[in-house]
Amino acid sequence: MYAFELQRAASAADAVRAATAGAQPLAGGQSLLASMKLRLSQPGTLVDLAGIADLAGIRREGNALRIGAMTRHADVADSAEVRSALPALADLASHIGDRQVRAMGTLGGSIANDDPSACYPAAVLGLGATVQTDRRQIAADDFFLGLFTTALEPGEIITSVSFPIPQRAAYMKFKQPASRFALIGVFVAQTGGGVRVAVTGGGNGVFRHAGLEQALNASFTPEAAARVAIDASELSGDLHGSAEYRAQLISVMTQRAVAKALAG
Ligand SMILES: Cc1cc2nc3c(=O)[nH]c(=O)nc-3n(C[C@H](O)[C@H](O)[C@H](O)COP(=O)(O)OP(=O)(O)OC[C@H]3O[C@@H](n4cnc5c(N)ncnc54)[C@H](O)[C@@H]3O)c2cc1C
Repeated sequence: MYAFELQRAASAADAVRAATAGAQPLAGGQSLLASMKLRLSQPGTLVDLAGIADLAGIRREGNALRIGAMTRHADVADSAEVRSALPALADLASHIGDRQVRAMGTLGGSIANDDPSACYPAAVLGLGATVQTDRRQIAADDFFLGLFTTALEPGEIITSVSFPIPQRAAYMKFKQPASRFALIGVFVAQTGGGVRVAVTGGGNGVFRHAGLEQALNASFTPEAAARVAIDASELSGDLHGSAEYRAQLISVMTQRAVAKALAG
């Protein structure tokens, strides 16, 4: 590790001031510190968000759950409120990485990082959530812009995410066994506005699958999902699995997610 300056922010306003001046936000450090050790990123100053009480916590707001950016994965997984209102999200959080990652990693850090195999982006996009930052609200459909890229502007800090509560939802992931990231993960939600299907692990970033959404809007059954041909030509392949293998996984994970959502 190389030398850098660490600032501790006491409030979101403090953090925004530091980030606007060029400091990089530090949340759970599960991705950022590893990338600094590998010299993939070399920020001169970090601003630690961990002491900002306002950025953590879970609360019900009408038909939505608002989860603070600094809420740790383990707290989402264990939350009685999330388990009862949005069990698919608690389930997703409970299968992220290992115990240490879940104890340290945060919702805000996960979606700001936008790893193409991460789980939370699939829930945010699949549920049509809204990302709240220090300066605006960003709809999930406008937030994820591809490989490690989001709509966040320099110095912009995520403060919370509002998840609308769907009629039914489920997330299924086929784990990359070493990292436990998604080789393919599919989040399926039946919402007032129709079915949404978000896929992670398939390419440059999380994406919605129009063909699966259309089929599941007509019939919310595993059989309907199974009849959709998944085009491998836009998926990525690597040593863990070819594009064709990932296409097959998208189909199977979607069928399983629909069955799980129907089982409640
Ligand atoms: C071994 C291992 C296994 C993992 N397995 C999984 C998995 O199965 N599924 C999965 O989804 N993830 C997995 N992860 C990633 C994990 O979920 C991390 O929590 C996540 O990638 C980063 O969150 P963090 O809070 O640690 O953020 P950090 O590493 O601190 O920050 C990540 C990035 O987000 C920025 N940032 C952080 N917070 C904010 C904010 N509030 N506003 C704006 N920018 C911000 C930082 O500046 C940085 O660029 C794994 C990680 C490891 C190390």
